Amino acid sequence: MQKDGLLHVATNAAQERRLHERLPSLRAEGWGEDDLIELDRDQLAERVRVAGARGAQWSPHCARVQPAKLVRGLADVVERMGIAVYEGTEVTEIRPRQAVTVHGTVKATYVIRALEGFTAGLRGHRRVWLPMNSSVIVTEPLPASAWEEIGWRGAELIGDEAHSYCYIQRTTDGRIAIGGRGVPYMFGSHVDQRGETKAPPSSSCGPSSGNTSRPPKASPSTTPLRWLGVRSLYVAYRAADRHENSGLKRTSVIARAANLISGR
Ligand SMILES: Cc1cc2nc3c(=O)[nH]c(=O)nc-3n(C[C@H](O)[C@H](O)[C@H](O)COP(=O)(O)OP(=O)(O)OC[C@H]3O[C@@H](n4cnc5c(N)ncnc54)[C@H](O)[C@@H]3O)c2cc1C
Repeated sequence: MQKDGLLHVATNAAQERRLHERLPSLRAEGWGEDDLIELDRDQLAERVRVAGARGAQWSPHCARVQPAKLVRGLADVVERMGIAVYEGTEVTEIRPRQAVTVHGTVKATYVIRALEGFTAGLRGHRRVWLPMNSSVIVTEPLPASAWEEIGWRGAELIGDEAHSYCYIQRTTDGRIAIGGRGVPYMFGSHVDQRGETKAPPSSSCGPSSGNTSRPPKASPSTTPLRWLGVRSLYVAYRAADRHENSGLKRTSVIARAANLISGR
């Protein structure tokens, strides 16, 4: 784990305005001067040189975690406490006080369903939890000359202020990992298995598997509408990013309409 904080970077005028406009309410919520620090273009460049950046906000309260090590470490700790961990056991159905697996049925006082976006694969749960896809692409390890140009000697995490936002980190082996929403929601709550994604819009940094959100209850007849709704909002947000990249000084009307519809 490395804790060098999180940078929110603005790459056009509208994004910069959103960053500034959000600040008073964050301060009122308790984000003090040491919790969220404004950086101008030059101050940002001292940390990371982001093409087209106009400024940023930096918070020290964010850390980069190696997820495989985190999960392995967690498993080791609970096993040392005497708890048995059973891996490679697919649950096919959850019933009251029962988890039905491919090897047999487990009975328990409490069954915790912690499948996130995979919940849709459980019998009887296809429509309980909307599987939002989030993709990641990773560069080859970059040469020292590239890091010389970019800076980024720390492990700051980076996000932009685009509506179809991206999130980026420098990996320990000198790559850049870029996450975003390439194929946000597949028709019929299917989970993407191939990792294919569309090219990202110019304002955002990259494509996307696994964040979830609870959809409104929908009957099968409303399913295409739900799919269309999610897809349309992402199309709208991408259009808004393009609109803002063309020189707009404030948040695009397309994004404001999309925010009204989505409640964002
Ligand atoms: C590309 C990407 C980037 C992300 N970036 C960040 C980030 O920067 N910061 C952040 O805080 N969060 C991030 N997230 C979100 C974060 O990873 C998830 O919220 C978190 O991993 C959820 O943990 P979980 O244990 O609930 O579910 P998961 O980590 O999804 O674990 C579910 C487990 O259930 C298993 N499983 C599935 N189906 C079955 C079944 N039928 N039977 C048995 N086991 C099953 C799966 O194999 C998996 O191991 C990101 C997610 C993605 C996909």
